[in-house]
Amino acid sequence: MSHSASQLDIDAGGPGYSELVAELGEAFASGRTRPLEWRAKQLEGLQRMIDECEDELLGALHADLGKPGQEAWMTELSYVSGAADHARRRLKRWARPRRVPTPMLAQPARSWVAPEPLGTVLVIGAWNYPLQLALAGAAAAIAAGNCVVIKPSELAPATSAAIARLVPEYLDGACVRVVEGAVAETSALLEEPFDHILYTGGGTVGRIVMRAAAKHLTPVTLELGGKSPCVVLPDADLEIAARRIAWGKFTNAGQTCVAPDYVLTDAETERRLVPLIDAAIRSMFGDDPSASNSYGRIVNDRHFDRLAALLDSGHLAVGGRTDRATRYVEPTVLTDVAIDSPVMQDEIFGPVLPIVRAADLDAAIAHIRRGNKPLSAYLFSKDTAAERRFVSAVSCGNMCLNDTMMFMAVEELPFGGVGASGMGAYSGQHGFNAFSHLKAVIKRSWWPDVALRYAPFSENKWGLLRKLR
Ligand code: NAD
Repeated sequence: MSHSASQLDIDAGGPGYSELVAELGEAFASGRTRPLEWRAKQLEGLQRMIDECEDELLGALHADLGKPGQEAWMTELSYVSGAADHARRRLKRWARPRRVPTPMLAQPARSWVAPEPLGTVLVIGAWNYPLQLALAGAAAAIAAGNCVVIKPSELAPATSAAIARLVPEYLDGACVRVVEGAVAETSALLEEPFDHILYTGGGTVGRIVMRAAAKHLTPVTLELGGKSPCVVLPDADLEIAARRIAWGKFTNAGQTCVAPDYVLTDAETERRLVPLIDAAIRSMFGDDPSASNSYGRIVNDRHFDRLAALLDSGHLAVGGRTDRATRYVEPTVLTDVAIDSPVMQDEIFGPVLPIVRAADLDAAIAHIRRGNKPLSAYLFSKDTAAERRFVSAVSCGNMCLNDTMMFMAVEELPFGGVGASGMGAYSGQHGFNAFSHLKAVIKRSWWPDVALRYAPFSENKWGLLRKLR
């Protein structure tokens, strides 16, 4: 059963989602989600849903964001299915008690960490990867043995509706529910005492989520964004760099949280790089990307207008054409971009790539460190000393050397931000851990019951303790 906004009477001060959350709480308390078989069955159901409903899901993603089929399959369907499969195959290993060494002072004893599910997890997704961001987190929460409420983004309405229709068909409705809706519904959900909240989206709402969670001492994982820098040094293979940057920037028409937001490079490298990016764009999307079926569209008019206004922030070196009727923004490269221009203020989140001058690696690092900690950072160079310096000097969520976004393909790399780009991570086993409590257990033997720690204290006991420490 899926709950929709119409079932609620939020504006009239109605019951909100207390009943829904109480039902899930009871289902969790009954132990239904504990057995690994239940978890594996849900994950398998999710995989089957993706597999059997591929056409419907691809259609919804196309309706919402004009996503090309192959791109949507690579970045959404296969991502979710892969995450569910990865978790299903490792469930037993992740869930079993993890032995840790017991120090001499606590001997004789055995000590272990016992992962246990938290209860009911709320997953609030964003619109740019509306399937992936609603379901990959849900898969991790299910793998850890939790009940889940999934709130897909209302800004991708076709995908939200598809999720709300399909999830009840493939997953256990007693423990996994979908709530569709916008701010009113999300706000009402946030009134409830969840056991964990995973939120993906902008930092402003991230703060609202964290404030609401604080009322119930609910832990949060916040997957936010930021301006992800891409540094290109003169020794890089610029042809490959251009292709990989163009791929990272123009996938999903730039509406990707880990897209390279802007390039930092020196004047001479910029002069060589720009025509190569132009060539990479043409080879991927042709001379007229508006006619390409490999290129997506902007999610709504508000974001289209926001992006169109950024095109004045520098010299249009590549692209620049737009069409409001179809929310098309051509893959665009801006040069002569001043650091204080509008395009350099906030995350761009669209297919506009400014190139900002930085004389060398030190200048680039200094620029990055002046801003908020980004979600991702990229360096293109063949110099391993530069690589080492970049890795140690730049704090960010995820880093990729000589490519963009490819950490997403490695399930066991913790995907998540730091500082303004978020907190926590939920890929692979990190996801299992994020939605588990890692309970500490020690089992002491009955004999011998050494008296060292018991009063009355004495110089002898104290001396022995110091030696044993
Ligand atoms: P969005 O508008 O879809 O909002 C995200 C969610 O928050 C939605 O489910 C929405 O219903 C809810 N929401 C919106 N306003 C709310 C309010 N006032 N109170 C409660 N809930 C509310 O997405 P967005 O914020 O436009 O997302 C874009 C941002 O997300 C970018 O900054 C991007 O970098 C970031 N992002 C991060 C990741 C990541 O994994 N780190 C992934 C995708 C997007």
